[in-house]
Amino acid sequence: MDHVERSLEGQVAQAVDAWLRWLPRWEPATHRGRVAVCRRCLGSPVLSAAGLGTDVPHGVAHGLSTRIKTIVDHAVAEYTSRNLPMLQGELDQQTERNRARSYRPTEGLDPEFEGMPLDPEPQPGAPFLFTLGGMADEAAAVVPPLPPLSDEAKAALRQEVGLADEYANMIGREVCTILLGHRLRIQAGVSEFVEPQVTALLDELTRSLDSPFDATE
Ligand SMILES: [Zn+2]
Repeated sequence: MDHVERSLEGQVAQAVDAWLRWLPRWEPATHRGRVAVCRRCLGSPVLSAAGLGTDVPHGVAHGLSTRIKTIVDHAVAEYTSRNLPMLQGELDQQTERNRARSYRPTEGLDPEFEGMPLDPEPQPGAPFLFTLGGMADEAAAVVPPLPPLSDEAKAALRQEVGLADEYANMIGREVCTILLGHRLRIQAGVSEFVEPQVTALLDELTRSLDSPFDATE
């Protein structure tokens, strides 16, 4: 674990560096669509370890949670390829299948967009004619199903999935501990580049709410 720990420390520091370099380019969203809840960020232990609370705009938090998730995913992928041959075989087959899919809207995105909900929340009574998620599902549906596994193979695979899961949890906890050490500079970045924009936005909102009364004074 020792060399893994040290390597994680370096990777988390680099991820925070990259996020801090991106932060000055962040701007509040100009349109106010109702967007589906982001499952990656909602209640994320990574974000609470980083000190990014619910008062921080989602786009800001998402850029960091995604960069950290990439680190965890890589660590788990490496562990799997070294120790879990059945699961690795299964993943290789899935990769093969994904390559065969024609429409893959969730791949090759920048960390700020990767994993964002694809479509806005549907309004009751007004369904979308098509959604990006729906198109990706259809593209997945035309790929033929995998050959069935024997019961024995299924049990072995389930055990390996459990091990991968345990490892992912361990790495996740480790990464959160490391992030605690970066809280101050994360907070400094938010204070410098995010808070002024949020304050300006709120001021503008207050002014536009106040203006009807200004006219009567
Ligand atoms: Zn998110």
